[in-house]
Amino acid sequence: MRIVLLGAPGSGKGTQGEKIVDSFGVAHISTGDVLRAEVAAGSPLGIQAKQIMDAGGLVPDEIILGIARERIGQLDPAKGFMLDGFPRTLPQAVALDAMLDEVDQPLDCIVLFDVDDKEIMTRLLARKRADDNEDTIRTRLQVYSDQTAPLISYYRDQGKLRVVKGVGDVDEIFETIRGVLEDAI
Ligand code: AMP
Repeated sequence: MRIVLLGAPGSGKGTQGEKIVDSFGVAHISTGDVLRAEVAAGSPLGIQAKQIMDAGGLVPDEIILGIARERIGQLDPAKGFMLDGFPRTLPQAVALDAMLDEVDQPLDCIVLFDVDDKEIMTRLLARKRADDNEDTIRTRLQVYSDQTAPLISYYRDQGKLRVVKGVGDVDEIFETIRGVLEDAI
């Protein structure tokens, strides 16, 4: 199973992603986690990424694609994977498809978490991570709608998009996702 979780920051990708990994045994790649580890380690990439992340912007595609290529290359193809927070721009999505086509391992399904902006704002303010102050959240939502939301029609056109309502009981949402994934693979 090769899947992508798509949705605004705070839409539940992280929470549901953990459940998907536990239940389906797929590898988990989160570019946000990789970047936070680089920031914590104080690496040159981390230092460069921190400023962008703190401001709510997107790290350049070339950097993200370098990370993605490396991580995906290390995976056991038999196990499958779940991508969370990547791709986030159209060029990233196109490059990902090309990368996966080369090894004949195309994506099976893209799960879109449908949550409205007001709910997202409430959740993100409650979560209060270093990169979650109100201005940053607004910027991140704007960046999502400008740069990432176009992926919705990109994947819909491929016939691979599945939309899941991301509001309500966490376990019920997961059961919906489980059904969607079992259907798609
Ligand atoms: P996340 O934990 O996925 O919300 O990512 C945290 C931050 O890392 C984002 O706000 C971006 O600044 C950066 N980031 C993570 N993944 C990507 C990506 N695919 N493209 C660009 N920037 C990213």
